[in-house]
Amino acid sequence: MQLTNRSKNVVNKKMSFWERIYLPAVLAGMWTTIKHFFRKKNALNYPEVKRPFAPVYRGWHVLKRDAQGRENCTACGLCAVACPAEAITMEAAERKKGEENLYREEKYAAVYEINMLRCIFCGLCEEACPKEAIFLTDRIVPADYVRQNFIFGKDLLVEGVEPEKRVDVTVRQKHLTEKKAVELAS
Ligand code: SF4
Ligand code: SF4
Repeated sequence: MQLTNRSKNVVNKKMSFWERIYLPAVLAGMWTTIKHFFRKKNALNYPEVKRPFAPVYRGWHVLKRDAQGRENCTACGLCAVACPAEAITMEAAERKKGEENLYREEKYAAVYEINMLRCIFCGLCEEACPKEAIFLTDRIVPADYVRQNFIFGKDLLVEGVEPEKRVDVTVRQKHLTEKKAVELAS
């Protein structure tokens, strides 16, 4: 019984002269290869050339600073509570006199760690943050052989003070604002 009409009966017929010398088949194959030389390439020369990421892409987190270079995070813990993977841990500390240029508010995260092996990049931490302190970016978490190296502390999460070390999250911010507006409207 035939299940589809795509089956073909195999015929064990004798090969013709042209089939036996394989030359037409080889030339046909080469013609197909040559045609592809002149077609527009779909592949990119990664990693030299990279495709732009979609604004919905969620990768390596950044802890943002404000315009004066002070850390935005106040160690409120809302991101850790929202995290379904329990990937975020932190230790809060009180800002001391003279540290106003380092931390925006009276409380800050002395320790802030994300376990990138636990993280599922859901983005709930950035949605929960009331201070616009944490964002997911289009940076890819690098591969590593040592599990401990996937515990990202403040050294890998907080952006640099210098303008060239700032991480641009405007596309992500815009996307989150639009998402919130859609949620409120529905
Ligand atoms: S992206 Fe999701 S899983 Fe990862 S730290 Fe944030 S809330 Fe947790
Ligand atoms: S990142 Fe945001 S939500 Fe998380 S502790 Fe800091 S201020 Fe709170």
